[in-house]
Amino acid sequence: MKALLIIDMLRDFIYEDGALTVGQVGKAIIEPIKAKIEKFREEGNQIFYICDNHAKDDREFDMFHPHCIADTPGAKIIDELEVRKEDKIIKKRRYSAFFGTDLDLNLREKDVEELYLVGVCTNICVLYTAADARNLNYPVAIYKDCVASFDNEAHEFALKEAGTTLGCTIL
Ligand code: ZN
Repeated sequence: MKALLIIDMLRDFIYEDGALTVGQVGKAIIEPIKAKIEKFREEGNQIFYICDNHAKDDREFDMFHPHCIADTPGAKIIDELEVRKEDKIIKKRRYSAFFGTDLDLNLREKDVEELYLVGVCTNICVLYTAADARNLNYPVAIYKDCVASFDNEAHEFALKEAGTTLGCTIL
């Protein structure tokens, strides 16, 4: 079983009026991600939506403008992506989808052996999720046309780092 991890495709990051929007680059990856979702569903693989979901007074807001606060519209998955009942939703408070979540247990229960990453931001939640996945020995691939960041230089660095240091496959 393979899993597609769709990271932080949430209103606050993707929509132009979102609290911490990544801008136009976020919009540009929506269609490519939809195509990947369709492909993974057709092949009987598992979809995971990884969702930033913060407490109102989360310490992450010492560094970033408040965003994706639990039970607010900004924390919702964007309307363009369909969520089906067989999909898994993992809420997280930190960059890595593994930190303080039961993602690893869910992956094991579904016998997932390979992870494919898409979403935002390449240099933050995608990169740190990839790092923890590699620490756990999962093979990881990142679809480079399906990840984006507000900082293009950091986006490029993160793809290079994921490939050369973490041993991810960049597709
Ligand atoms: Zn956050």
